Amino acid sequence: MAEFVKICPKCGSINLGTENTHYHIWNCCLDCGYGSKTLGRKEHFFPEVSLEELEEVQNQLRIAHLKETTKKENT
Ligand SMILES: [Zn+2]
Repeated sequence: MAEFVKICPKCGSINLGTENTHYHIWNCCLDCGYGSKTLGRKEHFFPEVSLEELEEVQNQLRIAHLKETTKKENT
């Protein structure tokens, strides 16, 4: 049976925590702060990936993030 973990779509971390609001519990990333309620009132989506796919997804996020950073530096 495949195990699934929630992953931060911004930095690829699986180091997620929860924050309580008065009506429900949100996930937030403990590494980059993605999803934290201090950033806004909107709940953020955390995709679930299987443990087998985790490393590949993290690599893809890293590449995407690098491209974004490079683009910003060039403009
Ligand atoms: Zn993150």
